[in-house]
Amino acid sequence: MEDCLFCKIIEGTVPSEKVYEGENVIGIKDVIPQAPHHYLLIPKKHISTITKIMPEDAGLIAEMFAAVKQIAREVSIEDPGFRIVMNQGKEGGQTVYHLHMHILGGRPMDWPPG
Ligand code: AMP
Ligand code: ZN
Repeated sequence: MEDCLFCKIIEGTVPSEKVYEGENVIGIKDVIPQAPHHYLLIPKKHISTITKIMPEDAGLIAEMFAAVKQIAREVSIEDPGFRIVMNQGKEGGQTVYHLHMHILGGRPMDWPPG
């Protein structure tokens, strides 16, 4: 998609530190980590936000959760635990309009979130 940062990361024209690559999804380190472990799972298909996910995207969403499990095990945050976050829109805190899931871990997470 035109001028989409995460599409450029998927194409490889913007560099990233990959932690996962599957058929439909990549996982990268967040460039401004908010926790000792902070990864982003990004579908290769450009979907702007949560409410644009369609029924045909079910496989891609399933792969995102499979990737969460794989990464959490690989970096040893499955236990004590971690958080996944997806932000939608301005008040949700979304800054990049290409669907992504944050994985945050390595420190206790507060509730309620900020
Ligand atoms: P959100 O605010 O939910 O849209 O999340 C966007 C995330 O992308 C933020 O946590 C940013 O730190 C992260 N980010 C922005 N640019 C890059 C980049 N070039 N590589 C990796 N992560 C990035
Ligand atoms: Zn995109």
